Amino acid sequence: MEIKISISAKVSIQDGRVNVNEILYEADKFGNLLKKLIAERIIEHYQSAVISRMCDTEEGLVVKHVKKGGKSQICEEKRYTREGARSKKRGIKADFGELRVRIENVKCRKCGRIFTPITRALKIDNWGRKTEGLVMKVAETISKQSYGYSVGSLKDISGVTIPKATAHRWIVGEDWKDLELGRRGKEIASVLVDGTGYKRQIIGGGKGDIRFVIGITDEGERRVLGVWANKDWGDIGKEVKEDLNEQKEKPGMLTSDGEQGIAESLGDIARFHQRCIWHEKRDLGYAMWKDGVEKKERDSEVERLSGIIGMQLPGGEHEFVREEDKEGIRKRLDSCKDEFNKLIKKFEEKGYNKGATYLKNSVSNIFSHIELWLEVGIISPRTTSLLESIIRQVGRRTKKIGATWSDGGIEKVVKIFLKKTYESSDWGEYWKKRMGISDGCKINLLSITSEARAT
Ligand SMILES: [Zn+2]
Repeated sequence: MEIKISISAKVSIQDGRVNVNEILYEADKFGNLLKKLIAERIIEHYQSAVISRMCDTEEGLVVKHVKKGGKSQICEEKRYTREGARSKKRGIKADFGELRVRIENVKCRKCGRIFTPITRALKIDNWGRKTEGLVMKVAETISKQSYGYSVGSLKDISGVTIPKATAHRWIVGEDWKDLELGRRGKEIASVLVDGTGYKRQIIGGGKGDIRFVIGITDEGERRVLGVWANKDWGDIGKEVKEDLNEQKEKPGMLTSDGEQGIAESLGDIARFHQRCIWHEKRDLGYAMWKDGVEKKERDSEVERLSGIIGMQLPGGEHEFVREEDKEGIRKRLDSCKDEFNKLIKKFEEKGYNKGATYLKNSVSNIFSHIELWLEVGIISPRTTSLLESIIRQVGRRTKKIGATWSDGGIEKVVKIFLKKTYESSDWGEYWKKRMGISDGCKINLLSITSEARAT
């Protein structure tokens, strides 16, 4: 069908004087207003056309609906009668304001069900009467850091005022199952895992743990392999393994903060397991503190550890590193391991049992990134810092004073944040698909005419 819309406006310039800012200030107001008026007109004409086919033509139009009185049976009648309109124009919440449209009813000639064809035709959900564009903006706003501080409602994102509780309900009320996480066809070279706490929304309070598994591809691209709230590492491990098992090669490295459960549940998803060297230093200091060691001595031993585990790999492509340089790295690695074992011995002799145990537990995983490089030439993360920065950003959004979360709710909000922030092209694709935009409607501007007279 074709609809013609003419636009006419009156402009008054007082005393014949105006500056450019005043003109632009006024013109700017019409951006959203014009969008709204044009969309309302199109919807009204479209509604008339659909209802006319349903009620005025011989062939009618099949609009599937639930049969009146029949428990979820579908009626496929094609003939209808008009049943008037709702007395008040109803609002459809769009991302730039509210559209006001007179929504008309029809009655099925066969079963008698009364319904509004336009909301079905437009694929608007009948209860919330919100567009997908608005849901997208709300999801993006909720995942922004500033969201937590803006009180009351989400006004800044559109002309419509949405109470914060409503916005939250929209987001958490959906299952977001099509917003996929995981490898999605990419080969993952290394995997980073860690978690952070949150306050659970249960009677009497309680602390939950939200856990992240992030993959890094050969090209250094990030992929969110999963986000889980209050799930143990064993179950997480099963899910991640299933996803990674389909790869051509096992990932080279799993890097973690060294938490015991992680190594046991996820250790075999990669060929090597690296303990984050930053956590190693921090946790050794803590273990020595428990041994009652003075700060000065603690600092100097952590400094020594730092020298042992901090050895650097040569830059550049592995295949261009000369064999004798690789041999040199091998020798240095052996001497670092010797130094590490000497440190354990020294601690044992001094009776620093917690410190000694801590070092013993980590010796097999602290040089893994060097061993992997020597074997296959892959540079892998030796700290979890990439993930720490993601976790810090998530924390700013989820750890507001007084904020409590359901397990499902925090999972969804964090998933949206990670998609939007780290896989933004996927986020765009998701919405394009969800909105079903396929050039169904084209608007061409035909003409704008104007004339002026002096007043
Ligand atoms: Zn019917």
